[in-house]
This record gives sequence, structure tokens and C-alpha cells, in this order.
Amino acid sequence: MKIRISEIENIEGKTRHISFSEIYNEFNKDVPVTAELDVNVSGNVVKISGNIKAVLNLVCDICLKDFTKKFDFDIEEYFMKDKLKDTYSNELELDENSFTEDLNNEDEIDISNFVYQCVILNIPNKLVCDINCNGDENLKKYIKKEISDPRLEIFKQIKIEKE
Ligand SMILES: [Zn+2]
Repeated sequence: MKIRISEIENIEGKTRHISFSEIYNEFNKDVPVTAELDVNVSGNVVKISGNIKAVLNLVCDICLKDFTKKFDFDIEEYFMKDKLKDTYSNELELDENSFTEDLNNEDEIDISNFVYQCVILNIPNKLVCDINCNGDENLKKYIKKEISDPRLEIFKQIKIEKE
């Protein structure tokens, strides 16, 4: 799905609401990624804000089993129509999580690709199927359970004296 900035500039309020739904085979062949987005054009700045929901099929880093994880997050991202107007971007207060992209005067924004990038950025570095996941039993046999630290042994000998 692509949108044209010039078309949004002609809308009253220069804002277009998008109800987005698309299947990404890389994420999940059955459940679409959905998004409710507002695209606002203000001078040189295109702001896309809203909410994205996705259900991803992932592989657990610990037990190596497939699992699904729900994502539900808000976004607020900015595009610059033209990077020559740097002063304009300096006036904007961007929070650390935002990325600013130059469009180099292109009139189109690929919303499908934009949503894809947003989902990718929200996938955590460490994927764990469950907070209590201890890994596969077969894998565990090859991993030593707990390495005892001799420095900690001394604490076992300390007795708390009661009056
Ligand atoms: Zn796991």
C-alpha cells in the first residue's frame, strides 16, 4: 500500500487516517498485521502516528521451539520531504525512539514497507517463548545445571543467631 503526500496536502487538515491490514508471509501466513495510522503533512514534515498490531511466529532462543507472540505498540515517526530544509528538522523535538527519514522529494510513502520496518524494530533481541522457559530437556543434559561458586559456600555456614 502506497500513499501520496501531495494528495494528503489537499485534504482539509492535511491528515489522512489509514486502516491498514496486510499479510506478511515472513511474519505470519494466517494473521494479518493491522494498523490504525494517521498521516499528517506539515510543511516539510510528514508525521505517521498510531497503533500497530501483529501476531508473529517466532523461534525461542532457549528451547528452539516455535511460538507465537502478540505485538501491540504505538508509533510516532517522521519523514522529511526534503533534506535541504535542515533547519526545520532541528526545530522538531524527536524522541529517541523515532527515526527520521528523508524522502528526497519523492511523493510516495510505502506504508506496507513502513509497517514492516516498525514491526521488525519491535522484535526483541532475545526471543523467549515463556518467562519460565528453561529450555529443552534434551538440551539441558548437555548443559551443566549450576556452577557452584566456592566463594558463596561460606554463606551456607553462616548461622543467624537469635536471642
Ligand atoms: Zn522456549
